[in-house]
Amino acid sequence: MAEPRVALVTGGNRGIGFEVCRQLAKRGLRVVLTARTLPKAESAARTLQADGLAVVGARLDVADGTTVAALARNVAKQFRGIDVLVNNAAILLAENQDLLDTAIDDFRSTFETNVLGAIGVSQAFVPGMIAQRYGRVVNVSSRAGQLVTMSTYAPAYSISKTALNAFTRQLAAATKGTGVLVNSACPGWVRTRMGGPHAPRSVEEGADTLVWLATLPTNGPTGGFFEDRQPIEW
Ligand code: NAP
Repeated sequence: MAEPRVALVTGGNRGIGFEVCRQLAKRGLRVVLTARTLPKAESAARTLQADGLAVVGARLDVADGTTVAALARNVAKQFRGIDVLVNNAAILLAENQDLLDTAIDDFRSTFETNVLGAIGVSQAFVPGMIAQRYGRVVNVSSRAGQLVTMSTYAPAYSISKTALNAFTRQLAAATKGTGVLVNSACPGWVRTRMGGPHAPRSVEEGADTLVWLATLPTNGPTGGFFEDRQPIEW
């Protein structure tokens, strides 16, 4: 029997990331649930292990390159490689601030996590996917980053998601024909700490398109932006 695929999820300790870990593990994947600190990762992983799911916790602060390198070394020891990467971790700072009043430090922190974080983690794990001729990368984006509808909402966050989408296009082009499929997805407005209690969607609904993209068949799309399993405009 083929060994189960291995998925790595960033920001997996709560919210949509945690639900993605649960759904991927329920589909039979082995999941590396990562979080900013080891106790957070292990505690969330234990919750899923209690349901009989194959989940291990690991430390990964996407804004701290030393933790990326350390995780890459540990993964190389424990697993054949990573088959699926879900770049989910993100922060939403200065949501209600006007563009011209948003502190440059808020832009910097937002970009470090939402953009450079996804790029750094991809640089650590996508070469292994190319080498094994199989990989799925899901960049968890947002309609807030859509250029066609771009307005004044959450400038730092929105611009970071546009940049993340550009990274999706670049990485999809760089991996074309290698068996690695790279896509952006918007989960919709979801009830999490980021989305707030009044959002219309549950985490189960929010995770659906991400899990679909994480488990695409060989002939699946690459370089796209999806919501509700449908392509949407950039
Ligand atoms: P959330 O509840 O705020 O959870 C965010 C997760 O990211 C947490 O696990 C958090 O860890 C983690 N994180 C933040 N900075 C990190 C870092 N430097 N390294 C590693 N992990 C980090 O957010 P969510 O609603 O689940 O959002 C998940 C994704 O969906 C994000 O990319 C978000 O932009 C996107 N999204 C959400 C909505 C929505 O309505 N909720 C809508 C559109 C897009 P800590 O627990 O340590 O803080």
